[in-house]
Amino acid sequence: MTIRGHTFSRRDFLASAGLATLSAAFRPARVNAQHEGDHLVTTIREAAATAKIEVQSLRGNVSMLMGSGGNIAVLPGKDGKLLIDAGIPGSRMEITRALEALGGDPIKHLVNTHWHFDHTDGNEWLHSAGASIIAHENTRTRLSTATRVEDWAFTFPPSPAGALPTDVFTNDCALHLNGTTIQLSYYGPAHTDSDISAHFVDADVFHCGDTWWNGVYPFIDYSTVGSIKGTIRAAEANIEKVSATTVVIPGHGPVGTRAGLIEFRDMLAAIHTKVAALKKQGQSLPEVIAAKPTAAYDDKWGKLVPPTLFTRLVYAGA
Ligand SMILES: [Zn+2]
Ligand SMILES: [Zn+2]
Repeated sequence: MTIRGHTFSRRDFLASAGLATLSAAFRPARVNAQHEGDHLVTTIREAAATAKIEVQSLRGNVSMLMGSGGNIAVLPGKDGKLLIDAGIPGSRMEITRALEALGGDPIKHLVNTHWHFDHTDGNEWLHSAGASIIAHENTRTRLSTATRVEDWAFTFPPSPAGALPTDVFTNDCALHLNGTTIQLSYYGPAHTDSDISAHFVDADVFHCGDTWWNGVYPFIDYSTVGSIKGTIRAAEANIEKVSATTVVIPGHGPVGTRAGLIEFRDMLAAIHTKVAALKKQGQSLPEVIAAKPTAAYDDKWGKLVPPTLFTRLVYAGA
């Protein structure tokens, strides 16, 4: 395969998976960049301004908007539109257009699957448009204070008051809206310490936030108590929670099914086992990276978060 051909297929894959805004940011040089303007977080925020938002109708009146940060689920209805995740404000015009196409109900409710900027940056404008914001209590804690993510070399300042969740919970919370029930459940520490799932019970559509990245290696945020072991536990929980017919929305990547969750869990577990064995032998991080423990998986999973970064993330918690 030529370099050129490979580049195009990677780009095509990322565009079709709604990952275009993240793809530039996860080039290895940027992951470690220190200055504004050539930085992962800045790059993703800027890319959102030109992102194409794709709307996909799922089941039971639930739709998904793809292309601005994490995947956004939308349930319109008489109680006002409910959104799961807020996207990035650079896409506000496009998101507004996409929401209007789903009906005239006002935006009334927003759920954050976790505190990360690509899921919460849109909180402030959605709140000003009329949405109350529901999240795990740790999402409000993280957004309320300056929070540094070491692996992004970035410190997020405290969010403005209008961006903070208005209603928080600890373990579980059921919303009864638009003639249906949306069950929110905390995972415990997983990708961060604030991850929740959102299950549209009647439609059987399950949004699992960044506990699932469909088709690519996940990022894991150790700075806010995420870990590879927590990520594997969440993957196991997702497999338990859904059935063969559940429509599953990942935090990033295309909509999938339980089979995809199983494949993701198996990949995580296999790489964790390999890396943990090498670490137990006393190998340093550079030695483990040189041993390429992800090699068998890189063609399929390595197109966004690079294999070296993912190896580092696994090693940190192995
Ligand atoms: Zn995300
Ligand atoms: Zn995240």
